[in-house]
Amino acid sequence: MNPSPWDAPRAAYLLTAAMADNTQTAGAIAPGAEMSAEWAGFDASEQQDILTALGAQTRLALKMLHDKLGMEIEMDWEPAAQVACSGALVSARELIKPAPGALATPECAHCREIIAKALCSLQIQAYFRLGFTPAMIAGVCRQSADEAETSSRH
Ligand SMILES: [Zn+2]
Repeated sequence: MNPSPWDAPRAAYLLTAAMADNTQTAGAIAPGAEMSAEWAGFDASEQQDILTALGAQTRLALKMLHDKLGMEIEMDWEPAAQVACSGALVSARELIKPAPGALATPECAHCREIIAKALCSLQIQAYFRLGFTPAMIAGVCRQSADEAETSSRH
């Protein structure tokens, strides 16, 4: 299945939902948490579109956390830094900016997956701190995925 670019936000929400399903303790998600198998089914440019969408969705979750609780959270990059290329952290930070620049494009597939995992788990952690259980987070993401699909039809 090859989704067109407008499917990227939906795919991003579904990947986050899948990760929330697999999360036992949302407060302590490691970048090593399993990425949904679907991720590998997307080609490089689709993965890039999904990363951009994930970045926007994560930014929204972080903003909500900041607005409601005045709280800032950061990904724990220590474990990921040992396996990712040096540019991965820069890309991940760039992706959650309001207008991601050229640095937001990780060239290696390995790093794209690490960043995708990091963004999914950062988003899950933000919702967790806002009082959502992992099951609720998965539900919210699936609902948002359906809305992303609906709005793309207009
Ligand atoms: Zn890499």
